[in-house]
Amino acid sequence: MDFIDLKSQYQRYKNDINVSIQKVLDDGQYIYGEAVKRLEADLAKYVGVPYGIGVASGTSALTLSLRCLDLKPGDEIITSAFSFIATAEAIVQCGAKPVFVDIDPKTFNIETNQIESAITKKTRAILAVSLFGLCPDFDAIQQIASVNNLKVIEDGCQSFGAEYNGRHSCGLSLLGCTSFYPSKPLGGYGDGGMVFTPDKRLAKKLQMLRMHGLNEDGICMTWGDNSRLDTIQAAVILAKLPYLNGELKQRRMLAMRYASALKTVCQVPHIPADNTHVFGQYAIRVGNRDSVIQALQDNQISWAVHYHTPLHLHPAARPLGYALGDFPEAEKASNEVLCLPIHPFLKNSNQDKVISVIQKYARK
Ligand SMILES: *Cc1c(COP(=O)(O)O)cnc(C)c1O
Repeated sequence: MDFIDLKSQYQRYKNDINVSIQKVLDDGQYIYGEAVKRLEADLAKYVGVPYGIGVASGTSALTLSLRCLDLKPGDEIITSAFSFIATAEAIVQCGAKPVFVDIDPKTFNIETNQIESAITKKTRAILAVSLFGLCPDFDAIQQIASVNNLKVIEDGCQSFGAEYNGRHSCGLSLLGCTSFYPSKPLGGYGDGGMVFTPDKRLAKKLQMLRMHGLNEDGICMTWGDNSRLDTIQAAVILAKLPYLNGELKQRRMLAMRYASALKTVCQVPHIPADNTHVFGQYAIRVGNRDSVIQALQDNQISWAVHYHTPLHLHPAARPLGYALGDFPEAEKASNEVLCLPIHPFLKNSNQDKVISVIQKYARK
C-alpha cells in the first residue's frame, strides 16, 4: 500500500493538468510566464496577504526569507528542535546560528513557554514550523516577538491550507514559506515553493533576491540567487488548486477515522481549539515502534518516520554545541513518532488494513 498515491491523483485531474501544461508549451513562456503570476495572485488571496513570490523550493523560500532580515554573522534564529533538516539548514546557509527550543509533546510544535529563555541579545527572529500540517500558537509567538523586537517567519512547508484562529497558514507572520514538493498538501510535479508577505518592501526584495539580486533595470542591488518557480510547475499547481479544499476535507475525514479507531492504543494527533490540521503527515506515537514497523512491513503497508533524529543531534549540527538530553521532548518524539499512510485517494478498505495492524501491535 502506497504512503502517498500521486498516480491516482494525476489520473483524477489528468484532463485539467494536461490542458494547463499544454497551454504553457504553446505559449513558450517557460520562465515567469502567465501561470506563475496567476498562481502568485491566487495563492496570496487564499492565504490572505497581498503578496506571493514564487521560488524554486520550500528550502529556498526559507533561505530568501531569512536573507530579507539582513542577518549578520552570529545572529541567532530561534526554531524548533524537531523538524525537517531544511529548517535549520536555511538558517545556517544565511550565516546565522539556529537556536533550538524543545517541543510540546502533544502537538510536536515548538513549546512557546520555552521561547523566551532562548532569547539573547543576538536573537533576530523566530522561525516557527507548522509541523505535519498544524500551526503552532502564533498569537503567543507574535506576542513574544513584539515584546523582544523580533521578526516571525513561518515554515509552512507542510501546512498549506491549515487554519489558525480563522486565518490561513503562511499568512500568520511577516514571511510565510511553503513548498510544492509533490507530497506536500499542495504539491506540484517537481520542485517549487512560495513566500507570502503582507509587506510591499519585502515582496520587492524577494523578487530581486530570487533573480540574482537584479532590479527591474537589471542592476544588481544585493547578491541574490537563481530561485525560480517555473511556469510548467505553476500550471500544474494552478490546475490542482480548485481541488485543494476537497482534498483537505478528505484528509481530515481519514484522520478522524484513524483517531477514533486508534486513540486507545497509541497517541493520535492533538488538534488545539481554533485550528484546522491538514495532515500533511498523520503522525502517531507508539512505545514499541520497531515491532509496529515490522508488522506494517509484513503486511506490505508503507510507513515513514518523520523524524528519527532531532535537529540538534545531526552530525552537521555538532559545531552548534548541543548534546543528547538538551531537548528531551524532541528526542523522545524522535524515538516514538510513526507516520501512517494518508492521502486524499486512500480507500477506507485500505485504511482499515492499516488500522487493524496498528490496533493489534501498537503499545503506548
Ligand atoms: C519539505 C519541507 C521543507 C523543504 O521544502 P522543499 O520544497 O523540499 O525544499 C522545509 N521545511 C519543512 C518542515 C518541510 O517539510
